[in-house]
Amino acid sequence: MGDETRMVLTGGHVVDPVNGVNGPADVAIADGRVVAVGRDLPIEPGMTVIEVPRHGVVCPGFIDMHAHLREPGEEHKETVATGVAAAVAGGFTAVACMPNTIPVNDHAGVTRLIQRKAAEAGLARVYPVGAVTKGRDGEQLAEIGELHAAGCVAISDDGRPVANALLMRRALEYASMFDMPVVDHCEDRSLAGDGVAHEGYQGTVLGLRGLPAAAEEMIAARDVVLSGCTGAPVHLAHLSTRGAVRVVRDGKSRGVSVTCEVTPHHLTLTDDRLVGYDTNYKMNPPLREAADIEGLLDGVRDGTVDCIATDHAPHHYDEKGVEFDGAPFGVIGLETAVSVCLDRLVHAGHIPLVRLVELLSVNPASILRVSGGTLGVGVPADITVLAPDLAVTVDPSAFRSLARNTPFGGWVLRGGVAATLVGGRVVYANAQADGAGAFANAMAQVPTPSTAS
Ligand SMILES: [Zn+2]
Ligand SMILES: [Zn+2]
Repeated sequence: MGDETRMVLTGGHVVDPVNGVNGPADVAIADGRVVAVGRDLPIEPGMTVIEVPRHGVVCPGFIDMHAHLREPGEEHKETVATGVAAAVAGGFTAVACMPNTIPVNDHAGVTRLIQRKAAEAGLARVYPVGAVTKGRDGEQLAEIGELHAAGCVAISDDGRPVANALLMRRALEYASMFDMPVVDHCEDRSLAGDGVAHEGYQGTVLGLRGLPAAAEEMIAARDVVLSGCTGAPVHLAHLSTRGAVRVVRDGKSRGVSVTCEVTPHHLTLTDDRLVGYDTNYKMNPPLREAADIEGLLDGVRDGTVDCIATDHAPHHYDEKGVEFDGAPFGVIGLETAVSVCLDRLVHAGHIPLVRLVELLSVNPASILRVSGGTLGVGVPADITVLAPDLAVTVDPSAFRSLARNTPFGGWVLRGGVAATLVGGRVVYANAQADGAGAFANAMAQVPTPSTAS
């Protein structure tokens, strides 16, 4: 029955930058695909009609191109199933998951296991990212062709940079043969040492060993040079410094095929938060300074920054609940990113909503060469419905994620997710959003993959 479902979302405001749509429109869906977008589409018998709540915005599904789902190997932190549940609750119809699992996703067996878990969960799409090097040990290239054939959409040793420049060059050359980007975690380890916080005034006052901005900027600059000389696409993960944004801007101005992402936490928080040594502010790259936030925002506004990605990094309470020095790096973000961006970027006047859709949907789809990023006729109906004025109070105890390590607990934000559809199926309806009942009813009607025959 599921593939015969026909549905129309009526009365919403559609934002689809690829097709130049930014206004009131209905979206008709059949067999899991978009079949029409326009004003006052005809309602045919048997169609499920969903009235989009007043002021609701219908967007191509958001894609988080940088998340850690922890399976296999660290299922006490997160699983693929809990990760995708968090993703759809946060408005993401797809997530790319980093390969630093146990074992590392450096061969097809791990890639297929992640895909199987994702299919069983049947919520968000999951795009595995393979490792650049075997075991992420920075020594020997992984079987990049095998990873690509198994379905990996990019390669990365994230958590670590590819330190060796020759190896990075080879990785770029091989990956580009398969039309895959290399995603690099920019950090010169010889300079970063055993730092735990941004090297600056605040870290010095608090006695926290420094992670200098230069450690990020040096590898970012190296990667831009290597991308330029190979012609291969490189994507720089979670940039956090104004200097790194300058490096990307300069590369782009010379035609280098470099792209980059920033996280919601680096756009909104500075190292002033470290007073109190709360480990929910410990991540790598670290929270920087106000001038860095300004630099990142400049990049978001002028197009230097291509994507917003969460770097969702779940950790167990017992692991984070130790002294600052000993705690693991990383914070979660899947269930807060959209609200933080709506409040702090769109409502704050930095960017229009259409630009946010580019950052969260159009550009990640294009960089990863995956479907999505558009509501064009014929594409899979992966759709994020926003409630831009919804009052959201971040309540970590209500997260679908297994983890609670968020820096945004208790924040009151304007804007949230009303519903999430993947392949034309309502996979999430927000009970807090006005008029979400129509989405909830549609969700109840459609059989889930595990119950469908
Ligand atoms: Zn990283
Ligand atoms: Zn990461």
